[in-house]
Amino acid sequence: MYHVLRCPGCAIFTYADRFERWKLCHVCGEVINVKAVPHYLDVRDYRDAEEVVNQLEDYLYISGRQDLSQNELLTLRSEYSSWLRLQNAEPPAP
Ligand SMILES: [Zn+2]
Repeated sequence: MYHVLRCPGCAIFTYADRFERWKLCHVCGEVINVKAVPHYLDVRDYRDAEEVVNQLEDYLYISGRQDLSQNELLTLRSEYSSWLRLQNAEPPAP
């Protein structure tokens, strides 16, 4: 599992493995304390994490805002879990 989080130094979205305690920000070099920063979303793997990070960056850029509202955060989490259920419901690829 991966945590989607935000660098306290430069506010870029990034992600960390749940077993990682520290994450080096690839943009500003800040050492992020993974346990101490808010987790926007918990996702199953790094591919999902990258996708969510990109979407969050785009979303905030387009909407011209600094952060998600509490409601948007809840929507994000519930949409991800329904999407995950759909993925799991599909038969495995041949
Ligand atoms: Zn940073």
